[in-house]
Amino acid sequence: MKKTVLTLMTLIMTVFLAQSAFAGVVVIDPGHGGIGTEGSGAIYAPYVEKALTLSIAEQLRMELANAGVTVYMTREVDTPMSLDQRAAYAKSVGANLMVSLHFNASGPHDKTGCEVWSSAFGNHAVVGRQLGSQVLGQLSALGLESKGVKVKLGDRGDFYGLIRNSVAQGVPAIIIEHCFLDYPTDRAVLERVGTAGLAHADATAIIGFLSGGTGQSLMNGTLDVSPVSAASLPAVSGTVGAATPSPLAASFTPQEWSWLLSQWAYTGNAEAIINTKSVAELRQLLDLHAAGKL
Ligand SMILES: [Zn+2]
Repeated sequence: MKKTVLTLMTLIMTVFLAQSAFAGVVVIDPGHGGIGTEGSGAIYAPYVEKALTLSIAEQLRMELANAGVTVYMTREVDTPMSLDQRAAYAKSVGANLMVSLHFNASGPHDKTGCEVWSSAFGNHAVVGRQLGSQVLGQLSALGLESKGVKVKLGDRGDFYGLIRNSVAQGVPAIIIEHCFLDYPTDRAVLERVGTAGLAHADATAIIGFLSGGTGQSLMNGTLDVSPVSAASLPAVSGTVGAATPSPLAASFTPQEWSWLLSQWAYTGNAEAIINTKSVAELRQLLDLHAAGKL
């Protein structure tokens, strides 16, 4: 009798695992970490981006693991990590997919909604578009406005370092910008559903994607996501948002300009924010920086 029960339980477990297990490895990347502007990410009291992304990541990991996905996190504590370190880590654990978690803020505090950034290249773009659409579907169901799945190009391929470095490692990656911390209606959603609600939305989307055809091919290795090298560029069609240099850039040295960009890098649209400022204002920031005050 006892043996029969055990056999039955083993059978049930086997069937359950066979149905729920996913062959692939997903790396969750809680954006930012460490001190300073880049470390903290967007700050809008009482919210700090690096803490929100870590909170979502922990809950997302649990949901994905419960569904049978093998999950790793690029960081589990408040520590700085470069974008290429994150991509190299994903490669080192055999990731099929990297999901980078972020929140937005804008200089003029007038932007709203959720968006997903994807690679513009090959099957990396196919994965980004499909997974990104599912993520935005879930987030918009919570009341956030979907700004769409976007790509942005820089001189060396994909503009965003996390995506560019991951693609160079052969790991498809997306960046989820959940909402704008400095916009009232976005904050209302965050306060209502909490990081748990956002993590659940992400988990539902990722599991949905992995269960579909592209997700299955990605995990079983039949989808070609070989590294995209800068040498093979440009191979872009139907993309939007190619980087156009700001007209203000001409008023500064390249070093000054890159420092200015770095001040708003966490927003994901530094140039757009800088364009709302005057040359004099920006010069003042540079003077403070030169004097060691900023
Ligand atoms: Zn961020």
